[in-house]
Amino acid sequence: MPELYIVYCVDTEGPLYEPLTETFNRIEQIFGLKIEPNRENLLKIQNRMLNLNGLEDEAALVCDPHLLNYNDTWGKIDTMLNKVMDADFRIKFKDHNGKGIVYNWHCVDHVGFETNERRRDLGYGNVFNYYENKIRETGSEDKIHWHFHPVSFNREAHISATSYDLSYPILHQIITRRVIDNNWFPTVNRAGFHTIRQDSNLFLEQWIPFDFSNQSEYQPADIKQKDLSDGRFGDWRRAPLEWKPYNPDYSDYQSIGNMNRFSTKCLNVGTRLRLLTEFEISKAFELANTEGKAILSFTNHDVRDMSKDIEKTYTAIFRIAKQFKNVKIYHCDAVEAMQAYLYDRDDAINNRIKLNYQWHDSESSKKLYVEAVNGKVFGSQPYLSIKTNENNYYHDNLDEVKKDKIWSYTFDRFTLNLNNIQKVKIAANDRYGNCSIVECGKLKDS
Ligand SMILES: [Zn+2]
Repeated sequence: MPELYIVYCVDTEGPLYEPLTETFNRIEQIFGLKIEPNRENLLKIQNRMLNLNGLEDEAALVCDPHLLNYNDTWGKIDTMLNKVMDADFRIKFKDHNGKGIVYNWHCVDHVGFETNERRRDLGYGNVFNYYENKIRETGSEDKIHWHFHPVSFNREAHISATSYDLSYPILHQIITRRVIDNNWFPTVNRAGFHTIRQDSNLFLEQWIPFDFSNQSEYQPADIKQKDLSDGRFGDWRRAPLEWKPYNPDYSDYQSIGNMNRFSTKCLNVGTRLRLLTEFEISKAFELANTEGKAILSFTNHDVRDMSKDIEKTYTAIFRIAKQFKNVKIYHCDAVEAMQAYLYDRDDAINNRIKLNYQWHDSESSKKLYVEAVNGKVFGSQPYLSIKTNENNYYHDNLDEVKKDKIWSYTFDRFTLNLNNIQKVKIAANDRYGNCSIVECGKLKDS
C-alpha cells in the first residue's frame, strides 16, 4: 500500500522580541510605505482601514496578529511547548501505527552578532541545550537537526544574510562545539532564511546528506512583497515540484544533478509566503498514490504559537487523507522519512558508518589515525573537532591516507601541540543518514 511520510520541521530559534517600530520598518522595507508607527495605525492596517493604494490585503497579511504575536521569552516558549509536546496533544492526529505527531527541531545558534535589538538568546548551544532538555523532560522521540543563519555585515542578530563563505569561522565553531560538547553532528539541513546559494550547496555536499529546503510551489502566489522579489531569500522557482527527494546539481542546487545529498520539498505554515496549501497537500497524496511513496514536509518557527498552525495543518492533511484511503500516513523524523523513501532498511543497518581511531606516537610526530571500519563516509572525510586546555575549539581537515577508508592528523608545530589538547572527536554521516561520533582518547589509551 502507498505510504506518505509526514515530516514536520521547526526552524528553532528561541525567543524573539519585536518592538512596534520594527513592524513599521518591515512595512517600509517590503512595500516602500512610510507610516507613522503607532498602535492605531497597526490596527488600521490589520483591518484594511488605511488606504495603501491597493496593498491593503498584502500589508494586512504581514501584520496578521498571529504573525506578530511573538514568544519573546523562554517562559512563553516553554508554555507553548508544554502544550504541543504533550502526548495527549500529539496523539490527536494518529498515524497508521497509532503514533502521534513528531517534531524535528532544527536548532540555530545565535553567534557572531554584535547588536541584538530583537533580544535573541545569543551564545553557542543555548537553543540546542534548551531543546535537548525539553525532549528529555517530555520523554519524546523528537530529533534535533541543523539550521544555520549566516552573519550579516552589520552583525545585527536579526538581519538575514545568505553567504556561508563569509561565515565559515562561525559555522565551524558551532559544529565543532556541537560535536565536542553535545556529541552531536548535523545530518539534516533546513536552510536559514530558506536560502541555499552555491557556497552552501557545496558545504552541505561535504557533510550533510539530507536537506529539507526546497520551497518550489505548484501555484506560486503573485506577491507584491518587494523584499522577496527576484529570488531574494529562498529562490526555488526552478526546483523540482514533486513531493520527493532529488539530487542537486553541482552548479545549480535547484536542478536535478549528480550530487550525493538528497534535497526534498518543505513548504511553510503560519507565515506570509510559500505556504503549504491544500492543493500542495493533495499533490503529495497523489504522488504517494501513483508512485507508492512520497514525503510531505512543512516548517514553521518556535517564535510564534505553533499550536494553531499545527491544528490547522494536520486537520487539513487528515481531511484530504480521506480522499486517499489506501495511502498510509506515517509521522516521521526527517532521517527516518528519507531512509524509508530512498533505501532498503537492511542496507541502511548493515552499511552503517562506524569510525574508529588509533594514536601513533614517535620521536618526530604524534599522529591520530581515523578509520571507517564499517560503511562509507558521506562527503570525503570525517569531521575533526578539537578542544584545547584553554577551552578553544578547532576544526581542521585530515590527511587522506587511503581514500574513503583511512585518514590522519598530525599534532606538531604546524598544527597544535598535543600536550595542550583536552579533547579530540571525529564525526561522520553516511549516505543513509546514520552518524558515527567517536571520542579519541589520549595517546595512552591506544
Ligand atoms: Zn531561521
